[in-house]
Amino acid sequence: MDIQTKPSLYSFSMPGLQDYLQERGFPKFSAKQIFNWLYQNWEPNPENWTNISKKLKVHIAEEMDLTLPKVVWHGLSKDGTRKFLIGMKDQQTVETVAIPARDRLTLCVSSQVGCAIGCTFCHTGTMGLKRHLEPSEIVGQFMAVSHFLKKEVGDSERLTNIVYMGQGEPLHNFDNVKTATEIFLEPNGLGLSQRKVTLSTSGLVPQIKKLWDFPPVNIAISLHAAHNDIRTELMPINKAFDLERLFGAIKEIPLKAHRRITYEYILIRDFNDRQEDVDGLLNLLDKKESKINIIPFNDYPGSRFKKPSDKTIKWFMNSLNEGGCVTTVRTTKGDDILAACGQLKSMEDKLNLWE
Ligand code: SAH
Ligand code: SF4
Repeated sequence: MDIQTKPSLYSFSMPGLQDYLQERGFPKFSAKQIFNWLYQNWEPNPENWTNISKKLKVHIAEEMDLTLPKVVWHGLSKDGTRKFLIGMKDQQTVETVAIPARDRLTLCVSSQVGCAIGCTFCHTGTMGLKRHLEPSEIVGQFMAVSHFLKKEVGDSERLTNIVYMGQGEPLHNFDNVKTATEIFLEPNGLGLSQRKVTLSTSGLVPQIKKLWDFPPVNIAISLHAAHNDIRTELMPINKAFDLERLFGAIKEIPLKAHRRITYEYILIRDFNDRQEDVDGLLNLLDKKESKINIIPFNDYPGSRFKKPSDKTIKWFMNSLNEGGCVTTVRTTKGDDILAACGQLKSMEDKLNLWE
């Protein structure tokens, strides 16, 4: 069988693998054992799976794809942020960033190669969409980076959190991102807690309405403006799904007790950093169920927007806090290696990776 048509073992959720095995006459309980080998014992080679039958090992070796994405380039920022270029089987690449903070090491994963949404402030948005990533390629970013850290750095750096804030719009690739998230959360899989996974979306209203059918992870909405005209200028998606429709859908998100939705707000100099923007946000958001995360705009070569001053960032944050909305500022990390938000774009053309 051609390798491209074999299903990847890393693309199965636990229930998915149980069904797959049962349909082929293998015991359902083997799914748990396989997950243990792959995600907990870090043993990718079926030959070493001592509690799996010979017949099933042969099936897996012959009928399933076991390849994982690979780290093809790595850069270390002076603040400890690491950027990885991850290569897929078809030689497409995505970027993944590991960001240290206090006792956490957060992996910012990509969900697509490029992105179809085309936000005007986003470097990835200028690429257009090349393709969706498979669950194995999303989970594979975590696996590839974990293997790299284990080998090159040792046990001092282990990934603890995941944010879907790399390339791509995760809700545009709903089913694959859902399966990948199930594997991240699966106790026999990567075993992360729901609180350690955050999905960020630009506001795809029909998919937000489907979040009842998604594991209950943290949700972040890329808001960036409190007025439709400004938001449309930043995010063309606002033409189809404007603020009224967006907030109509957000009301339907099933929130676990004590959980708030995070609103990401890129602060851009002389654009969305005025008093009327503060007022607009305070009017728009439910203060008990929201928190705002200000992201000072990150410049990248050729961008038409500018970074705000530190004084404006502080004023904007304080005004929102004084108005009753919990607001923080995301510290910019990794900008010396173009790993900060919105600076991710394939470097493939700059590096001759495949030669
Ligand atoms: N597509 C999803 C998730 C990936 S983008 C989304 O848009 O939510 C992750 C975050 O980085 C988003 O809040 C996005 O708006 C922000 N971002 C993109 N470009 C940026 C830039 N140039 N400066 C600062 N933040 C940026
Ligand atoms: Fe896509 Fe998010 Fe960038 Fe917008 S900000 S173009 S949705 S990756």
